[in-house]
Amino acid sequence: MLQKKTVDDLKVQGKRVLVRCDFNVPLKDGVITDENRITAALPTIEKLIKDGGKVILCSHMGKPKGEPKPELSLAPVAVRLSELLGKEVVFAKDDNVVGENAKKAVAEMKDGDVVLLENTRYRKEETKNEENFSKELASLADIFVNDAFGTSHRAHCSTVGVTAFVEESAVGYLMEKEIAFLGNAVNNPVRPFVAILGGSKVSDKINVINNLLEKVDTLIIGGGMAYTFAVAQGGHVGESLLELDKVDYAREMIEKAKEKGVNFLLPVDTVITKEFKNDTEFKTVSTGEIPDGWMGLDIGEKTRALFADAIKGAKTVVWNGPMGVFEMENFAKGTKAIAEAMASIDATTIIGGGDSAAAVNQLGYGDKMTHISTGGGASLEFLEGKELPGVVAVDDK
Ligand code: AMP
Repeated sequence: MLQKKTVDDLKVQGKRVLVRCDFNVPLKDGVITDENRITAALPTIEKLIKDGGKVILCSHMGKPKGEPKPELSLAPVAVRLSELLGKEVVFAKDDNVVGENAKKAVAEMKDGDVVLLENTRYRKEETKNEENFSKELASLADIFVNDAFGTSHRAHCSTVGVTAFVEESAVGYLMEKEIAFLGNAVNNPVRPFVAILGGSKVSDKINVINNLLEKVDTLIIGGGMAYTFAVAQGGHVGESLLELDKVDYAREMIEKAKEKGVNFLLPVDTVITKEFKNDTEFKTVSTGEIPDGWMGLDIGEKTRALFADAIKGAKTVVWNGPMGVFEMENFAKGTKAIAEAMASIDATTIIGGGDSAAAVNQLGYGDKMTHISTGGGASLEFLEGKELPGVVAVDDK
């Protein structure tokens, strides 16, 4: 159980509540192309409105690197949020985030009103967690709620610093839900517990592999990172992704899996090409037998069946990282097979954000999963067994 205060522990009537959301949504020509993160924030916002709080929202968007960038303004989010909430969201358009507009808008708020501040990363202090900006943010509010799971692995002013200068702090419903799903899966899973890791690099997932080997019954590795394991087993991988400096580590992990009695599954075959593009000749060969001049871009048919079979018997499945270059249709079959297998079983199925979440949604399996995390980096750190600074900083119950 989460030992942190949640929005259910707060009395917000008449109080100014600053809520850190994750409104870092993709934009194309000023239009929001995926609003999942906005809809995911609604339960907390609606609860605070209903309870009579003055709801001041803040978030970052993209990487403006400490200066105002009009294309990374949160203005389009205010418009969409107004529509979704069915009430006005006042956008405080200040290049310095906590400026005259924000102060005036907050001063004029009635209970249940909503204000959205400008992109917190317009301020260079934000990502350095500098006290002056934390204090400015806190000066607008009495209470702070962190509902930005996707940024909770970062100690910034709007996620950590601000908590020191408000009367009270709590986590929001989205944060609570993310922690409950990921926390239960990792620390208290219904077994068999299967974890699937993919994506491009072993180096990004070193601690994840190490930590998960302590917890899972089966660990499946696919994607670009599998070739480093193939080399560790004495295979030849041609021009495939390879991290030579991680080969020893891969060997250690294979040993560790044996010691722990973990069923450690690596690809047995792989789809190879000569060029990194969709419309090109491709064929399937056994893992570790990739000729020079060829590269592996997806898991092969036998591997798809092997992995799907392991997933079928699971009661808890956590997946992070695609099995191949799923952005290209010819190399999306492995990723699709995993999504299909997970969608078809009666188990707790969790997608750890980032590329795998995008892949699952793109392939149309989004609503078949128990939980799709809104935070790629944060969920990886969770799977590493790390504490998230944005959660730690919130008041205990
Ligand atoms: P990551 O950001 O580490 O989760 O990796 C995701 C990226 O890995 C996606 O863009 C995939 O296209 C890429 N990827 C997966 N498998 C391969 C592979 N075999 N070769 C090259 N890139 C890959």
